[in-house]
This record gives sequence, C-alpha cells and structure tokens, in this order.
Amino acid sequence: MASPREKRLAEFIEPFRVEPGSKVTLAKRFDPGFKKGVESKKQGQELLANGIELLAEYQSRLYAQGTHAVLVVLQALDAAGKDGTIRHVMSGVNPQGVAVHSFKVPSSEELDHDYLWRYQKSLPGRGMIGIFNRSHYEEVLVVRVHKQLLERQKLPKGPRGSAFWKQRYREINDWERYLSENGIKVVKLFLNLSREEQRIRFLRRIDLADHNWKFSASDVREREHWDEYQRAFSEMLSSTSTEWAPWYVIPADRKWFARIAAAAVIGHTLVELDPRYPKLDPEARRSLLEAKAELEAEAPAGAAPDPFEDRSARD
Ligand code: AMP
Ligand code: MG
Repeated sequence: MASPREKRLAEFIEPFRVEPGSKVTLAKRFDPGFKKGVESKKQGQELLANGIELLAEYQSRLYAQGTHAVLVVLQALDAAGKDGTIRHVMSGVNPQGVAVHSFKVPSSEELDHDYLWRYQKSLPGRGMIGIFNRSHYEEVLVVRVHKQLLERQKLPKGPRGSAFWKQRYREINDWERYLSENGIKVVKLFLNLSREEQRIRFLRRIDLADHNWKFSASDVREREHWDEYQRAFSEMLSSTSTEWAPWYVIPADRKWFARIAAAAVIGHTLVELDPRYPKLDPEARRSLLEAKAELEAEAPAGAAPDPFEDRSARD
C-alpha cells in the first residue's frame, strides 16, 4: 500500500512521466514552461526545502540498508541546468553516499570497448546514489546527430539506419532491466529547455565574465542542429521509457521549478524503495546488550550508568 507521502509525490510527478510504450513528440507533448500550479519562486522554495530534507532522510536509510542503489540519469540540452540541479537537489545529502560522474567525449581507451563499458564501470554500489551528468543516452543522441562519432566507435561493419538505432534502444533497455533486477534503480530525467530560453542563457554566459568558462563557440554550432536533436530526443523518449526505468521530462525554462520537479522524482523513487535501517538478529542484539552491561559497569561514581537509557526505551 502506498503511503500518503508516496501518493502525493506520485500525483505531482505524473505529468512529467513518459508512459512506457507511448509515442511522444517532445515539443507537442511537453511544455518547458509548465509550473504545475506552483505560482512563484518563493512558494517553490518551501517545496524544495521539504524535498531536500526528504532526500537526506531516505539517502541515509538507503546507505544503512546497503541493498539498493539509485542511479539518476540526467540528460538535457546545453544550458538546461544539469549542474545547478545536481548542486541544489543534492545539497542536503551526505556527500559520502553520492557519486557524480560526468561523461565527456570518449577517450581512446573507452573507444576500444563496447559502448556501455564506461557507464557500467561508473555505476553506484549498493547503498549509494549515483548521478550520471550525461549518460549512456549520449550514445543515441550526440552520436546519432553526428554520424562521424559513430564511425570512431570501431564497431563491426553493418547497416547504420533506423534498425541500428532500434537495436541500441533495445540494448539500453535490456541493460537497465538487468540493473533494476539487481537492485539498481534507474531514474531518468530529461531537462526540457525551450529554444528561446537557451538563447537567453547563452547570452548570459557571454555577457557575465564569471560565466564565460561555461560557454564555448561549439555550443552555438550544436544549437544549429536543434531540430535533429528534438527528433533524437523524441525517439529516445518513445523507445526507452520502460516500466522498470521510465523517463521523466522536467520543464526547465524556470530553474527553480526544474529543481523541485527533479527532487520530487528522485524523492518518489526513494519513498517507493522504502529502505529501512537494518534490525539486528536476536544473537547480535544479545551481544550488544553484553557490551552495554560492560560499559555501564565502568561508569565513574556519580555518573549515570547509561545516560541514553530513557531514550532507547522510548525508541
Ligand atoms: P560538457 O558536458 O559541456 O562538458 O560537454 C561534454 C561533451 O561531451 C558534450 O559536447 C557531449 O556531447 C560530449 N559527449 C558526451 N558523451 C559523448 C559520447 N558518448 N560520444 C561523443 N560525445 C560525447
Ligand atoms: Mg557544454
């Protein structure tokens, strides 16, 4: 039975979910400016604070239980706010329990392996939250838009038409299914930015000296491929949103809303997993009580043998 919190979160994130098996055209189906009734940034701040607190609590339980891992896959257009989303949404969690990996152009060693190799190597261990800042989905996005990147992958010869990309989607779905059956829950977020908002954010990066480092002229070259990317995104969302690892399209024209929505999707996953602090078996519990008796016997004169006695009785 879903708890009220789980139901509330499920209801909030429902409009972002890509129904497995449905065919979506990104621009028709998802509005980058959608706010889902959260009218102002101020109103949003409280929601985000609650979300961050929830993540912190559940991350701690996930770590203590050490059974599941959560892999957050973040994909987006340039300037959609991946870095800021990671920084804000994860601001409350214990850094020891989180591992962020950013994927760039593959190295020659990486190109000497199958394309999922480098992603497999970077998966979170049990109890951890892993974040992929860009991910294996680049293999059906940038690699699809720029065919010369595919040529560098040293694949066996064969056709490279739509059947090839269908095969890649299938391989990715199979891999994610394998992960989910092994306790690694894959949560996929696509930050959806409008073309106009991207233009404004690029200009900001150019105009503000402290932001210049984030901008490269190649970002404008990529923007020229906008329509090809939109097609690649639409096909990716339609082909790889599965029951075991659905896609969520996060409206990203307002950074503050994108952060709330991302926190809600990740929070929902954790609440659904419902990790618990481990309970000791009776024998381990007995040996704890023996240790307790020894420590109590060492109490100096006048000191309480166990200052927590009352509290542990309550727990
Ligand atoms: P950034 O995230 O802005 O530092 O840029 C990283 C760059 O690496 C982007 O231009 C990506 O398109 C590129 N990239 C990431 N993954 C791949 C991949 N699998 N193949 C080719 N290029 C990639
Ligand atoms: Mg960039």
